[in-house]
Amino acid sequence: MYTRNQTRVISIGDVKIGGGNPVAIQSMTNTKTENVEETVKQILALEKAGCQIIRCTVPTMKAAQAFTEIKKQIHIPLVADIHFDYKLAIAAMEHGADKIRINPGNIGGEENIRKVVETAKKYHVPIRVDVAKERNIPIRVGVNSGSLEKPLVKKYNGVTAQGLVESALDKVAMLEKYDFHDMVVSIKSSDVLMCAQAYRLVADKIDYPLHVGITEAGTVFSGNIKSAVGLGIILNQGIGDTIRVSLTGDPVNEIASAKLILKTLGLRSGGIEVVSCPTCGRTNIDLIPLANQVETMAADFENLNLKVAVMGCVVNGPGEAKEADVGIAGGNGEGLLIKKGEVIRKVPEDQLLDTLRYELEHWGE
Ligand code: SF4
Repeated sequence: MYTRNQTRVISIGDVKIGGGNPVAIQSMTNTKTENVEETVKQILALEKAGCQIIRCTVPTMKAAQAFTEIKKQIHIPLVADIHFDYKLAIAAMEHGADKIRINPGNIGGEENIRKVVETAKKYHVPIRVDVAKERNIPIRVGVNSGSLEKPLVKKYNGVTAQGLVESALDKVAMLEKYDFHDMVVSIKSSDVLMCAQAYRLVADKIDYPLHVGITEAGTVFSGNIKSAVGLGIILNQGIGDTIRVSLTGDPVNEIASAKLILKTLGLRSGGIEVVSCPTCGRTNIDLIPLANQVETMAADFENLNLKVAVMGCVVNGPGEAKEADVGIAGGNGEGLLIKKGEVIRKVPEDQLLDTLRYELEHWGE
């Protein structure tokens, strides 16, 4: 069993990351931030799926201003994603951003960094309304393999994990120079093994919480696999305080993937784990759509901590289903309902899904 790296605790709105707090799941909207209605709609869907921190791009002053209205309508911390223009970082904070994400190397020099840091200190947020103690708006320092500085590319003979880490440490030092320490650090690369190596290296050098993700991971299929492998390697070394699974598609998909990655690694409990067999020549019910329907349905039972088995036959199925809390083992146009290791009864095939739903709805009664 690995030990989680001990990082300092940073508060993003009312979500605490680092210092052994549960790994927080975050995502990013793909709407135009200026379009408050669409953005809020997507954030609410993400919240419902289990997203704990949300980031919106801020490419314009109008987008920064939209933060005021967006924040009123959502319930999770809102992060501003800034590129190049320090004025947008300041405006986003003035309009209620709970955190900003910048690359201090590309916002136009020392003076601009100083102004951003001073604003982050000025727009402090009370930890609790009844407590006088205040904190800064945290800043995520993001380094990306696609924008690694040319001198570092040259020094390390290409884009390497060492170059990415040196770049990240340089950025951290830029903020520390102004006595700013409410930082989260990310190093992203679409090269999974390089990314894992960079996180390992940087985790040994700093104690700021780490935001972990595989960037430009790809479509839902390849992005899920790359993210699972990359995040699996990194998190299993005890590294990582908040994660994002980046997928080309509806960001709501990212949340279920992130939850499953954390659950598989033993970093999250709760929710239903669905196990299903791959089907074979022994399968005599239409198992594949049923397994997918059960998985979709299971997402509605976040409060239960159960394993549900959907097995194709009565040869191996009952054995596997007995390992689960509840399950079905397919027969010929019917299936056995198995609960806590006991065969309960036979159920016609077309009633299997509803039967499982009923069992989940009345679990523990
Ligand atoms: Fe085949 Fe039965 Fe195993 Fe499913 S559980 S793969 S149907 S033998």
